[in-house]
Amino acid sequence: MGLTSSLRFHRRNNKTFLRIFMILVLSCIPGRTNLCSNHSVSTPKELPPSNPLDIRSSLVSLDLEGYISFDDVHNVAKDFGNRYQLPPLAILHPRSVSDISSMMKHIVHLGSTSNLTVAARGHGHSLQGQALAHQGVVIKMESLRSPDIRIYKGKQPYVDVSGGELWINILRETLKYGLSPKSWTDYLHLTVGGTLSNAGISGQAFKHGPQINNVYQLEIVTGKGEVVTCSEKLNSELFFSVLGGLGQFGIITRARISLEPAPQMVKWIRVLYSDFSAFSRDQEHLISKEKTFDYVEGFVIINRTDLLNNWRSSFSPNDSTQASRFKSDGKTLYCLEVVKYFNPEEANSMHQETGKLLSELNYIPSTLFSTEVPYIEFLDRVHIAERKLRAKGLWEVPHPWLNLLIPKSSIYQFATEVFNNILTSNNNGPILIYPVNQSKWNKHTSLITPNEDIFYLVALLPSAVPNSSGKNDLEYLLKQNQRVISFCAAANLNVKQYLPHYETQQEWKSHFGNRWETFAQKKHAYDPLAILAPGQRIFQKTTRQLSPIQLSKSKAIGSPQRYH
Ligand code: FAD
Repeated sequence: MGLTSSLRFHRRNNKTFLRIFMILVLSCIPGRTNLCSNHSVSTPKELPPSNPLDIRSSLVSLDLEGYISFDDVHNVAKDFGNRYQLPPLAILHPRSVSDISSMMKHIVHLGSTSNLTVAARGHGHSLQGQALAHQGVVIKMESLRSPDIRIYKGKQPYVDVSGGELWINILRETLKYGLSPKSWTDYLHLTVGGTLSNAGISGQAFKHGPQINNVYQLEIVTGKGEVVTCSEKLNSELFFSVLGGLGQFGIITRARISLEPAPQMVKWIRVLYSDFSAFSRDQEHLISKEKTFDYVEGFVIINRTDLLNNWRSSFSPNDSTQASRFKSDGKTLYCLEVVKYFNPEEANSMHQETGKLLSELNYIPSTLFSTEVPYIEFLDRVHIAERKLRAKGLWEVPHPWLNLLIPKSSIYQFATEVFNNILTSNNNGPILIYPVNQSKWNKHTSLITPNEDIFYLVALLPSAVPNSSGKNDLEYLLKQNQRVISFCAAANLNVKQYLPHYETQQEWKSHFGNRWETFAQKKHAYDPLAILAPGQRIFQKTTRQLSPIQLSKSKAIGSPQRYH
């Protein structure tokens, strides 16, 4: 049924008409926050269809530069976490910003008579269904190819990219101009929109802040279909809401990312510690210095005696005789991983600087390993691991990952319990641990972090081996995560989840703490029907028919239904 026949259908039911009209009117009423929009949602001229077949045909009737598909929805029903399977009704393959805006306006027009929600899908590398929209519309952001990657040189160089662009493509393109973004994730086959909706944290974040700190401007399609350009100065509320905003306020269609001169090479160093305090003291020392490494991370090695042998193919020991004598004796070890950028002509001064920095540290002397590789090879390092795992059929398996931000004051207690008592091995995936300085991070974004200047990112990144039992089994790994979370809560460690996932409203409230009301208020302002990013499970779209009294209440702050 097309829009015209659906109009006739609805005219038969005056009560429904009144309700839908009220919903539409109310959804256009601004919340208490500034709407700061460039465009407004027009009042629909026709009534929306309510039956699923009508909805499908109404999607088909949209005038788009790209297209909509229905038969391949299984391709976007899962994510990297591989634990949820929730197919959408349709996939939008947008060619332009206006395709995305038209889709959003259409769904606003349908109002709460349809249960359609919208998930922008970057590379689908979420872990717990955050990029899924069950029976809704998934927007494949990688289809949005405009603008092309455009680089601007000058004093403050930057690059304009589409929100669906992969970071690896941005790196390859900017390197042609001798430039590069400053802040990264460990893995580059992720999209700009996907990481900016979270934070984008890696070993450069202590120096430059996360990726959300390194954006000059965004173009956003809000939950009402408005296209808004925003920056720190222009529509700043929307700008900061979207950064780290878990996709709740709008779809990032374009981003302007700051650049710096790119080095050609990196000196990549690993050293080991058996004492956690010495390890974390050295990490904190390095991130507090002005002249220091360009990247500081670290990882935990539990019960892996073969590790140093594994490194030999890519890293060289400083003293091979001493290194070959090193025995871990089954102890938990902590590896500090640091990198210094350099160009070949600066090799001598780079060696002097790294030598000086290393001399200030207290690692086990026989465990100094290093290598020199091109900058792009270092940044794209996880892709090499991906290829190996894919070849063994171990990439597309369930990934029960847990990412935590732990305040400095709690890290020793956390490490003592978690690395010695809860986790008994890390054979099935890395455990990353490194500190960052919050003073270098912008406090206005939506990202929630612990309330201390220095906090650690701890990432437990296991892969569950299909058809296995014991420690590689999904259930076992999920219970292990739960033990870690329960310990943090019981010991009151004031930990925050990164890439957060919660089941209840209470948990989301406690995650946001005193920022919850503002978050809900902004949701109401930019996505009043709670259409966007349903897979985050923070707000739920209202699909039942509301009475005029209930509708008028829905104007109140935080009105979109929340999961309980
Ligand atoms: P998706 O999974 O497709 O989407 C994530 C969320 O953002 C969804 O809610 C989606 O609806 C929303 N979204 C997607 N695109 C847009 C858009 N254009 N506008 C608005 N909302 C949008 N993270 C780090 O910070 N540091 C790391 O080092 C790191 N390493 C990783 C390594 C691997 C192997 C993997 C799989 C993930 C890693 N991550 C890391 C996590 C990663 O940053 C997040 O999972 C990110 O969301 C994935 O990006 P994506 O493009 O696949 O987004």
